Amino acid sequence: MTVKKIVKYGTPSLREKSKEVHKISKKVQILVEDLYDTMYAANGVGLAAPQIGENLRVFVIDVGTDPKTMNPITFINPKIIKKEGAINSYEGCLSFPDAYTNVRRYKSVKVKALNIKGKPFVMEINDGSLLARAIQHEFDHLDGILFIDHCRNRFDADRVLTEKGLAPVDSKYLLEEKELEEEIQKNPPAEENN
Ligand code: ZN
Repeated sequence: MTVKKIVKYGTPSLREKSKEVHKISKKVQILVEDLYDTMYAANGVGLAAPQIGENLRVFVIDVGTDPKTMNPITFINPKIIKKEGAINSYEGCLSFPDAYTNVRRYKSVKVKALNIKGKPFVMEINDGSLLARAIQHEFDHLDGILFIDHCRNRFDADRVLTEKGLAPVDSKYLLEEKELEEEIQKNPPAEENN
């Protein structure tokens, strides 16, 4: 059980595609414990293995707001099997200290993964909630995709990144997502942040 150093934006390994877990070995169990310890220590709601320097397809999420409502969920070798709808999400990332911007996400997501015991489970979240968005955010990390790649306003994202001393958005990774953007604009959520 160790609080690890979180890999920061600009480190090449954050852009690498992570490898599947073939066996839930002791090493993988320790990795999962370290992910939780590191995430809770940083007051995050999700953390993916590449963010602590392990390019393996593992992430953890806990959107519980206090110890009474703790709800840790471990995802090993996750697959997103359905995604629908579109929503604005005001996001940050533990690899981008204090930088937040509006990004595009699916409203509904259905994911299949293994738990820490190697047992498969399926989870479907249809409400555009923090959990639905966190799953997409953490899943992306396993493919070297970062939240800023989904930014809705590149100029705003660049401004925020520059303010925090981080490199601007890289065009090479920027996702167009025209259909998602059109759908978000058709149904702007009441709580949309600008
Ligand atoms: Zn992140």
